[in-house]
Amino acid sequence: METSDLKQYQQEIIFRLIGKYKQLNSIDLQEEVSGFPMKCRKCGHDHFVKNGHFNEQQRYMCKKCRATQFPDANTALYNLKLKDKWVDFVAIMLEKDHATSCIAISKELHINEKTAHQWRLKMLSCLNEHQGIQIGCELELDEVYFPFCVKGRIGKEKFDTYIKEHHPDNVESDLRLKEKKMEQDKHQAVCIIKHNRNKDFSFETIKILKKGNVSKSDLARVLKDTDFTGKTVITDSGRPLIAYFKKQQNVIHQTFKSEDVKQGRIIKKNIHNNNINNTMSHLREWLKKFKGVSTKYLGNYLKWFRLKNIFNVDNAKSFLLDYVSDRSLYSRFLDIFKIYKQFVFF
Ligand SMILES: [Zn+2]
Repeated sequence: METSDLKQYQQEIIFRLIGKYKQLNSIDLQEEVSGFPMKCRKCGHDHFVKNGHFNEQQRYMCKKCRATQFPDANTALYNLKLKDKWVDFVAIMLEKDHATSCIAISKELHINEKTAHQWRLKMLSCLNEHQGIQIGCELELDEVYFPFCVKGRIGKEKFDTYIKEHHPDNVESDLRLKEKKMEQDKHQAVCIIKHNRNKDFSFETIKILKKGNVSKSDLARVLKDTDFTGKTVITDSGRPLIAYFKKQQNVIHQTFKSEDVKQGRIIKKNIHNNNINNTMSHLREWLKKFKGVSTKYLGNYLKWFRLKNIFNVDNAKSFLLDYVSDRSLYSRFLDIFKIYKQFVFF
């Protein structure tokens, strides 16, 4: 069949798809990775000498500890089979409205389901830390709550072997008991959401709570690195928020009463958190697909959701480069359990 047999709008769809894949195919991460400074995966040193080829790849030797490695050591491509499909995988994961179930992705990319599942874990664990939100002049800020969830028990997961290796003292058992109790008691994971009026947003996890509000010192801990200078921060009139921003210099803090916004009343012009409410309702809808997200991975899902909102084929390359320029990515992937444990025992 010729494309001319297709209706106009069908042709347009096809050309859009071809254009998209052409653009993605032009991104060769294997080649890009050698453009970023390398660090020794054993000792962290950054001086190397060439050390022959293996599988048609240039190999390097660390000048300090003499360990050898390839240019992709500790990046997302490290230890990855089917490297040429990683770009398409990431694009599918980040495209808005694209199916994200492992079964659907495995069919689409002709990879097996287990691979799709592992890649997803890897991609989530590795979501880059670089592309943080650029705070605009006006920022909505609020606490949001997610039910504590232990779906995907540690023992069933890929990290099982890792934990056995690295935590032979069996940290699992007391953690499990604690988790079970927390789930029964209906604990919640509390996060802070910062939301620009230009649609970008970000989440930070605060802590896990049974009930009650976060305190001023919780807020201080999470917000200490955010520079609010000269900005207008809009929040509800929760006491910890008011107390926190009272102490901040050069910030205009505007508050509204939650009740007013809930009932659609805006007392002061532009002083509302409608963007947050809007994003949260999309987010909760999206999270339903996963039938509960383990609190251990919550932070990653929230980052994933944000990136899905700002990703497009035109900025795909800058997203993908993060996966090969980030040399601490692979250890973060392995450390996800450690991070989670701190979160639970906080
Ligand atoms: Zn070394």
